[in-house]
Amino acid sequence: MSQHKPKLDNLFRIQTLLYLLDRGDKGATGYDLGKDIEEQQGTRPSSGKIYPFLKELLENGYIEEKGGDTSRNKVIYKLTDKGRSLVDEIVGRMRILIDSRLNVLMEVCHHCGVKLYDAPVIEKLEDGSEMKFCCSHCQQAFHEGVHKH
Ligand SMILES: [Zn+2]
Repeated sequence: MSQHKPKLDNLFRIQTLLYLLDRGDKGATGYDLGKDIEEQQGTRPSSGKIYPFLKELLENGYIEEKGGDTSRNKVIYKLTDKGRSLVDEIVGRMRILIDSRLNVLMEVCHHCGVKLYDAPVIEKLEDGSEMKFCCSHCQQAFHEGVHKH
């Protein structure tokens, strides 16, 4: 049992674990989980998908029952410590994967070279090209010819 690791070869499983992490000690029912995934991506996973996975996590000590109604679908589940370390590991692996793939698409600040994930400062040049900066300070520093920060 301690050797068991759930297969995480589909998004539903990863979403389930991330959702339970997000819920923390409040925990969540299978119903809450289905509803959350539906809100995120428009389709609700079937009970035949949700409950067997929760059962697998429960039987292997990644989640525990927190109580709630005895009727099966109202049981509240929360991550155990073991479950939290599993999620940590997944997040770490996903971060490496995304970082390495995203590098291809990633642009960098024209001044300091920092990767631009979001909403950079864009300066349009007269020839129609663009210079991108991570922030207005870098934009200013670049034009003032100041050394990289
Ligand atoms: Zn910069």
